[in-house]
Amino acid sequence: MSRIKDSWQWQQLSDEQRAIITAHQSSVPVNLGAIAREFGVPVKAATLGPGVSGEIRPNPDGGYIIRVNRHDSPRRQRFTVAHELAHFLLHKDQIGSGITDDALYRSNKSSRIEAEANRLAADLVMPTAKVRAAADELRASDVSDLSASLAERFGVSDAAMTIKLGGE
Ligand SMILES: [Zn+2]
Repeated sequence: MSRIKDSWQWQQLSDEQRAIITAHQSSVPVNLGAIAREFGVPVKAATLGPGVSGEIRPNPDGGYIIRVNRHDSPRRQRFTVAHELAHFLLHKDQIGSGITDDALYRSNKSSRIEAEANRLAADLVMPTAKVRAAADELRASDVSDLSASLAERFGVSDAAMTIKLGGE
C-alpha cells in the first residue's frame, strides 16, 4: 500500500470545499491563488517584517486577505499561500485580528493549529492522487532522485515533498 496519503485535515473539509480545491488541482503546479480567489480570499505579495513568511487577516473590504513575503523563493511563497489558506479553511473562527507566521510557520497560535495548517497545506500543493501518479511514472522511467523531481514538478521544496512521500 502506498504511503502517500491525504491528511486527516483534508478529510475534515466539506465535500463542497474539497470539490472546489480538486477542480483546481487537475494541472500542476497547482494554482493556489486561483483556489484562494474562489474562496473569496485575495492573495498579495508584500514586503513583510523580517522573518515573516505570511499572514492572513481580516480585509478592510470584508472577508480575509492573505499576504506572502515577496522576498521568499517562489516555492516557499506557494507553500505559504497554502498554509494561510489552510488557516482560513480550518481555523477561520480563530483568525481574530490576524495570524502572522514566521519562517518556521510559528505564530501566536498553538503548535497543534500550526501543524494542522501545514498538513492541509501539503495536500493543497501536492494533491495525493497526482503525486501517486507522477511517482509511478517517474519510478518507471528510473529517475535518479524521485523526491527532487517531484518537488520540481509540483513547485514545492524537496523537504516538503519528502514528507509527502512518507519520508522515503
Ligand atoms: Zn500558521
